[in-house]
Amino acid sequence: MFYCFLRIILKLNSYMIFLNKIIISIIPFLPKGVVRFFSKKYVAGIDNSDALNAVKILNYRKESATIDILGEHTSSIKECNDITNAYVELLNKINIEKLDCNLSIKPSHIGSDLNYKSLLINYTKILKEASMHNNFIRIDMESSKLTDTTIKLYNDLKLTSSNIGIVFQAYLHRTEKDINKLEKGSNIRLCKGIYKEDSSIAYQNYNEINKNYLKLLKIALEKELYVAIATHDKALIKECVKLVEKERIEKNKFEFQYLYGVPMNEHIEMYKNKNFKIRAYVPFGKDWYDYSIRRIKENPKIASYVLKNIFS
Ligand SMILES: Cc1cc2nc3c(=O)[nH]c(=O)nc-3n(C[C@H](O)[C@H](O)[C@H](O)COP(=O)(O)OP(=O)(O)OC[C@H]3O[C@@H](n4cnc5c(N)ncnc54)[C@H](O)[C@@H]3O)c2cc1C
Repeated sequence: MFYCFLRIILKLNSYMIFLNKIIISIIPFLPKGVVRFFSKKYVAGIDNSDALNAVKILNYRKESATIDILGEHTSSIKECNDITNAYVELLNKINIEKLDCNLSIKPSHIGSDLNYKSLLINYTKILKEASMHNNFIRIDMESSKLTDTTIKLYNDLKLTSSNIGIVFQAYLHRTEKDINKLEKGSNIRLCKGIYKEDSSIAYQNYNEINKNYLKLLKIALEKELYVAIATHDKALIKECVKLVEKERIEKNKFEFQYLYGVPMNEHIEMYKNKNFKIRAYVPFGKDWYDYSIRRIKENPKIASYVLKNIFS
């Protein structure tokens, strides 16, 4: 009986690997319209007004939001400046419309591919505007090539403003040390990590990543950091809820986050019933196509998630 079950699991697993391989090989040949059809659910639209409308609906449903302009690895100064200005404009609009919404920004989108000075100048500009409106900026975490730069950026920005947060990835071996270096009150998002990383620096196994996630969450809460718990993993969410309840963590010391479009209704209902803060991560922008393709190619798991969610 057990072996029969094991064989079914292995068969399903090899079927998923095979399916992922097929999806990845056909992606470059898919018409843009088809990719748009699949990514539409996860991308709020193309311009500011699309994103702000999505946020209005979320706020109406008593959910906070964080907006991300899609794109990464910008290599021209002009483009980095344009994106920086677009973020500043967004902050103004969020303020005028009195929305409950902050921003999540990728370092490689506004300067890390140019040089550290440009990166710092651009974040400082956006953060200044955010602080003026009592808003908040989170620095997204990209691949391990950028971990040190991102932490340095966070520390440098923290010298002049407290309205800044960072992200840590539970799959990286180094994260425990990084979190232990933070001071009380720091604001982190804890996620599993989306980039393909080598086994010498990152856990690869689902159980190991989840185990480390819970360990890191416990450390972060004990250190009295503010933690945005960002996962859709039902088993993991259950353990996180157990932990915050067992440790009687005050509800203003953490929030739950999810990616716009991922079906989380049941969990959102549960968070609301427990009076937990909820935030949706809302990506938008004209770079949706390149971004979607890159992400799916880099992490084939996403392709199967998207398919699973379409048919769920
Ligand atoms: C708010 C938020 C911000 C994030 N920011 C970062 C960041 O800055 N840096 C970084 O490296 N990673 C980031 N991530 C991604 C994260 O690291 C994981 O790769 C991703 O969330 C999948 O892991 P999981 O915890 O949801 O668990 P998994 O075990 O991978 O997934 C559990 C279930 O969630 C669903 N699911 C998960 N991801 C998706 C998806 N993309 N589309 C559709 N369904 C999905 C599937 O049904 C899946 O079965 C962020 C995630 C969230 C929720």
